[in-house]
Amino acid sequence: MAVRTFRQLAEVFDRLEHLTSRLEMRATLADALRQADPEDLPAIIYLLQGKVAPDYEGIELNMGEKLAIQAVAAATDAPPEEVAQRAAEAGDLGTAAEALLEVAEAPVEPPLHVRQVFETLLDIARATGPGSQQRKIDLLAGLLRRATPLEARYLVRAVTGRLRLGVGDATVLEALAVAYLGDVRQRALLERAYNLTSDLAWVATTLAHEGREALEHVRIRPGHPIRPMLAERAGSLEEILNRQGGRCAAEFKYDGERFQAHLQGERVTIYSRRLENITHQYPDLIEALREALPHDAIVEGEAVAIDPHSGEMRPFQEVMHRKRKYVTSDILAQYPVAAFLFDILYLDGESLLNQPYPVRRQALERALKPHERVSLAHRWEADSEDRLSAIFEEAIAEGAEGLVCKDMRPDAVYEAGKRSWKWIKYKRDYHGELADTLDLVVVGGFYGKGRRAGTYGSLLLATYNHETDMFETITKCGAGFTDADLAAFTERLNALRLDHCHPRVRALLEPDVWATPTLVIEVSAAEITFSPNHTCAFGLLRPDRGLSLRFPRFTGRVRDDKRPEDATTTAEVVEMYQRQRLVREK
Ligand code: AMP
Repeated sequence: MAVRTFRQLAEVFDRLEHLTSRLEMRATLADALRQADPEDLPAIIYLLQGKVAPDYEGIELNMGEKLAIQAVAAATDAPPEEVAQRAAEAGDLGTAAEALLEVAEAPVEPPLHVRQVFETLLDIARATGPGSQQRKIDLLAGLLRRATPLEARYLVRAVTGRLRLGVGDATVLEALAVAYLGDVRQRALLERAYNLTSDLAWVATTLAHEGREALEHVRIRPGHPIRPMLAERAGSLEEILNRQGGRCAAEFKYDGERFQAHLQGERVTIYSRRLENITHQYPDLIEALREALPHDAIVEGEAVAIDPHSGEMRPFQEVMHRKRKYVTSDILAQYPVAAFLFDILYLDGESLLNQPYPVRRQALERALKPHERVSLAHRWEADSEDRLSAIFEEAIAEGAEGLVCKDMRPDAVYEAGKRSWKWIKYKRDYHGELADTLDLVVVGGFYGKGRRAGTYGSLLLATYNHETDMFETITKCGAGFTDADLAAFTERLNALRLDHCHPRVRALLEPDVWATPTLVIEVSAAEITFSPNHTCAFGLLRPDRGLSLRFPRFTGRVRDDKRPEDATTTAEVVEMYQRQRLVREK
């Protein structure tokens, strides 16, 4: 179906929302992208991702619901109280706006154009300062007056930051590969370009305008974050040495917030692991980094809360106090941080991505001047289990979470956007419990009983299968939640509510409410077991059985720093299971 008008795009969104298979999702998208005007691609791609700009630009669509209600009221001549009431009943203001418009007069012609809607959404997102609230209302009401009911549904969801279709980046990349290169296997080329630029719309427009050659020659640029390399996990020090050629560099695993800092002249920009611009959270680090690194550079490290008096490292929860829009001087003083740098990707005009880790580390050591708040990650080389074990003990004693062991061989390049055995994380063993926690995606909720009535009493959780780009359920978890947690999850889940299983979720259990896979939470468990009710690695190790968790428990950490695709993968759980078996058999 051609996509020229917003009406047509809304129809594509509606189809995507009702599909039940990921392959259909991909085909529908490929069809829409193939027929789209290349000039419209940025708008279409960003809206598919539920945004108006790449994350690193920090332009967010989050018009408050109250303002959006006023806009709907203005456009439909319904009193704001009625709009609010209908939204509460439907659990979604978009659906309420759609219903209200169905009884209103037919929309004015000509139809809204995709780019025109997108530009207006950008204006709404950017409006700040005096009079901006009224301006947002007027802009949205202006669009709604010209919208069909279906368009209204998505306009309202878009401006309020709730346009989550659950279409993963992998599905968009595959659809682009099919639409423009005629072959889904070309996804790898597009993925590489995406990992280096972090801007899916840029990848799409470059492909459409300049073809595949342009993507083959993508270079990294300061100011455009690179998708981070991730670590695999190992169950034993022996395994680490085996995987990394008998010798590795063991670095402290710092328990803070991962960041990527881009230094360009006087300008320093800091990005989170999800590549959001978090510069404002660390004004103290900006100064420190500028002093410690007098270069144009892209470096990676961990921002760790420290005790201002002793300099000792403090737990992860403390650095999370910096996660807010306005970081006051009180917060800065109360939760001081230090940066521990562990990688460098770019230095004075040269990309270091294809250099092996020892060369990158050396470049970092040379470039960095000693500074009270910026240091290198502690690191030792090790070629025996005894040595690694001693380093591990020291890491724990110093307040680190464990080790990240790094392959030192010549092919140990920086693998942007990938989980790799060239980095292996190793954490403390929790006495018989699973050595590691899991980051799981909420895909549904079960209503609570008794004291928990009115909220969800337990959540259906899933791992991410990176081969199929699907989410597979692993457990139902009701332990570890405080009443406040449950209330907060109920609100967040209601915003993600679906009346059917999401096409990227494979489930056998039927929760009371399905959710678009978005929210990631951390869970601990006693062990991994088999279950006929869960789809994680279903049939892989045993026929008719998937993997599941015994005694799952929410740890209290919501991983807003992770996208659903950054959750623990099915392959990781399979490895955890095999490791658990080995330990038991010893
Ligand atoms: P994961 O993100 O689950 O792959 O685990 C690796 C994480 O450990 C990284 O994302 C960093 O946030 C964190 N980390 C802490 N210290 C280091 C280090 N020295 N090298 C690499 N990553 C580290």
